[in-house]
Amino acid sequence: MTTLVFYSEFDSYSEWSALLAPHLPGVTICRAEEVLDTNDVHFALAWKPPHGFFAPYRNLKLLVNLGAGVDSLVGRDDLPDIPIIRLSDPDMARMMAGYVLFAVLRYARDIPAFERAQRERRWHYLHPRVPSSVRVGVMGLGELGAFAAQELARQGFAVRGWSRSQKNIAGIECSSGLASLDDFLSQSDILVVMLPLTPSTTGLLSQQRLAQLPKGAAFINVSRGAIVDQAALTCALQLGDIAEATLDVFDREPLPPEDPLWRMENVLITPHLASVAIPASAALQVAENIQRAARGEAVSNQVFPERGY
Ligand code: NDP
Repeated sequence: MTTLVFYSEFDSYSEWSALLAPHLPGVTICRAEEVLDTNDVHFALAWKPPHGFFAPYRNLKLLVNLGAGVDSLVGRDDLPDIPIIRLSDPDMARMMAGYVLFAVLRYARDIPAFERAQRERRWHYLHPRVPSSVRVGVMGLGELGAFAAQELARQGFAVRGWSRSQKNIAGIECSSGLASLDDFLSQSDILVVMLPLTPSTTGLLSQQRLAQLPKGAAFINVSRGAIVDQAALTCALQLGDIAEATLDVFDREPLPPEDPLWRMENVLITPHLASVAIPASAALQVAENIQRAARGEAVSNQVFPERGY
C-alpha cells in the first residue's frame, strides 16, 4: 500500500485528488485524518502544514510544496530529510506575469496620475513615453521572474534582470551578485521584486538600497514582504523619493488596519494573490515527480533547504 497525504487550508483537496488519481494508480490519496496506516504514507502534498505534521510519516520519500515559494517550509526544524519539490506550473508563471505586466504598464502609462486627475475632474495631458525609454528592473530570474521579464521585454521595455548566478536571457540585460546590485537599482525606473525569501534576501532592500533607485521610481513587490524594509519603503513613498508602489506582499499579512500604507494615494495594495497554484496545469508535473520518486529516480524542481529556495 502506498499513500499520498494532502494538507492545505488554501487549496482544494477534491480538485487535487481528482486530477492526480488517474496518474497514480495504486496510490491512495487522502487527508491526514483519513490515513489508515502512517507507515504507508510515502508522499506528502502540503502547504503550510502545522508543526509536527511529518513526524508520524516515517517512510516519506517525497514532499511536494503546494506552491512556488518555500520560505515557510525550509526554515522549519521538523522537516524530514527527503527531497522536497515545489510546483512548477506554466499557468502560474503566466498569471504572475499578467499581474506584473498590469502593474508595470500602469506606471509606464502614468495611469495613477490620470486616476487622480479624474477624481478632480481635471483634463491632465501627459505625453506617453515610448516603452523602450522605461527601464524595468526585475530582481530574481527564476521560474516566475524570468518569464515575467521576457513578457516585459516583449512589450518593448528596457528590461534588466538581477539574480544570484549570471543568466543569459535573450532581450534581458542580466547581472548578478551583490557587487552589481546598487548599479542595477540605480537604473530601474520601475523595480519588480521577484526574489525568494531566504536568509540572504531577508531585508535585502534596506533603506540604503532603496535610496539607490532613481528619484520618482515605481516599486512593485510580488514575492515576499520581508525582503524589503517596509518602514523605509513607507517613508520613501511619503517623501516621494519612490513615487508609486504596487504591493501584493507585506512583512505582516494580513496588513494590519492601522498600517500607514493603507491610506497612501500612491500605493496599490492587493492581498497576496499575484499568482496561485493552479491544479489543472500543475498536477501532471506533480504526478510525474511522484512516479519518479516511487521508482527511486531523481526528481525535478527540487528545493534546496540549505540554499533557502
Ligand atoms: P525561483 O526559486 O525559481 O527563482 C528565484 C530567483 O531568485 C533565481 O533567479 C535566483 O537566482 C534568485 N535569487 C535567489 N536568492 C538570491 C540572492 N541572494 N541574490 C540574488 N538573486 C537571488 O523562484 P520563482 O521565480 O519561482 O518565484 C519567486 C518568488 O515569488 C517565490 O519564492 C515566492 O516567494 C514568490 N511568489 C509569490 C506569489 C504571490 O502570489 N505573490 C505566488 C508565487 C510565488 P539563481 O537563478 O542564480 O538561482
